[in-house]
Amino acid sequence: MRIGFGYDSHRLEEGRKFILGGVLIPHSKGLLGHSDADVLIHAIIDALFGAVADGDIGRHFPDTDDAYKDISSMVLLRETRKIVPGNIVNLDCTVLAQKPKLAPHIDAIRESLSEALGIPVGCISVKAKTEEGQDAVGRGELVKAYAVVLLEEKTAR
Ligand code: MG
Repeated sequence: MRIGFGYDSHRLEEGRKFILGGVLIPHSKGLLGHSDADVLIHAIIDALFGAVADGDIGRHFPDTDDAYKDISSMVLLRETRKIVPGNIVNLDCTVLAQKPKLAPHIDAIRESLSEALGIPVGCISVKAKTEEGQDAVGRGELVKAYAVVLLEEKTAR
């Protein structure tokens, strides 16, 4: 068994789409970044690489590489899954966002992750919290995501 932890944050800006866990969520602002800036997927990717001590998202998919400009982070997640060996036992995530309200979209995000990772939706937890109006998250300027993943060796089954 190997555990992995990932964290990411992205700024919210007007004129960008708000994509979280591969799901387009209606909002007046979107996440700013070189790719589609899917902060949740980036945290999950770092958790997967972390579990096998194989660097991070920036080492595998550098944001200086034009190949990844505006790319869907779901593509990067599927690529990561090919690189990282082992079965995913479960995945647990927390997203910090003041707005938009994420609760109505949680199940769609879990379905999206389930499809991309090839694991049952019951093995995927996504939780959403606000920052109670505090700091950059609370002012609606930033979204943060945390993820932990448990991997087991393929030979263990
Ligand atoms: Mg990122």
